[in-house]
Amino acid sequence: MVKFLDLYKINQQYRKEIDEKISSVLNSGWYLLGKEDENFEADFAKYCNTKYCIGCGNGLDALSLIIKAMGFDYNDEIIVPANTYIASILAISYNNCKPVLVEPDINTYNINPELIEEKITNRTRAIMVVHLYGQAVEMDKIWELAKKYNLKIIEDSAQAHGAIYKGRKTGNLGDASGFSFYPGKNLGCLGDGGAVTTNDEQLANKIKALRNYGSNVKYHNIYQGVNSRLDELQAGILDVKLKYLDKENQRRREIANYYLENIKNEKIILRKSYDESANVWHIFPVRTKNRDDFQNYLKEKDIQTLIHYPIPPHKQVCYKEWNNLSFPITQTIHDTIISLPISPVMEDSEVEYVVKTVNAY
Ligand SMILES: *Cc1c(COP(=O)(O)O)cnc(C)c1O
Repeated sequence: MVKFLDLYKINQQYRKEIDEKISSVLNSGWYLLGKEDENFEADFAKYCNTKYCIGCGNGLDALSLIIKAMGFDYNDEIIVPANTYIASILAISYNNCKPVLVEPDINTYNINPELIEEKITNRTRAIMVVHLYGQAVEMDKIWELAKKYNLKIIEDSAQAHGAIYKGRKTGNLGDASGFSFYPGKNLGCLGDGGAVTTNDEQLANKIKALRNYGSNVKYHNIYQGVNSRLDELQAGILDVKLKYLDKENQRRREIANYYLENIKNEKIILRKSYDESANVWHIFPVRTKNRDDFQNYLKEKDIQTLIHYPIPPHKQVCYKEWNNLSFPITQTIHDTIISLPISPVMEDSEVEYVVKTVNAY
């Protein structure tokens, strides 16, 4: 069986160091907002080349804390790709702001920068870019628009730890960035975890307070905050795994390149990267007309696949008001996309078997 993602095997590689870390946190008698959190925040900020990193409870909270800290009001508009995981959009509506959906580029699956300007109104406050499936958004046009209209740029980097655009890592491409360390992400902990990166000192301080009941000094609450902290155990485990992130991303690239070079089947559409280092291949999406048939075929051949994602956000029950809107490119992607197995612990023989099987479809 070729597993889609073998999390046990991924974490087993670092078993000794993780065990030691767990033991050391247990022995410390200090479990929240301590030395492990501080160390990880410093190391992850350094990794992203940003001035600040603030740990928090998960990726959704990271995005939500950014929007809250930016202080947007009721009905302020935030531009966001129509083709994304629902969390990007939930973070906006949770803060009573209005998500304004923009179609993706059919080649990159990321937001189409050429379609943003027509959606900008006098209520627009920010553009949220999502580096979807591990590929950094091409930022040039977005930087230009943000400057021209005085908009903030929020990055959703939950799927793209370590991806690089023009020499800058995700997390350092806008005003603030949200990361998720959900176990299946390129950098994942053993539970929920998240972080915000930014170069804005004021914003960093505000988020630091907001994640902890709105308080910097215990029992002095300056904001109506939330409880969303990265616990010491997860921070310590992430600090162990961060050291190996580049190596793991490199293995993902190797596998992706092998797929790109060797999958030769006219029924299967591959997504090319516009630049090698821009993509950390969180998933390896391909598109095909009879997607469900293709998935069943692979299942019979013992190859696990997943669909990212089966239902676009504008068709979800929780966004009834959008159900009649039409986003044909987003819809096409959702109807035809399927993710092949990719992970840093896949064996060469498994990768070769996937290629052979896909080519024989
Ligand atoms: C995983 C993910 C999130 C949310 O992260 P959680 O830690 O699960 O809350 C947000 N955006 C995208 C694009 C994601 O893939």
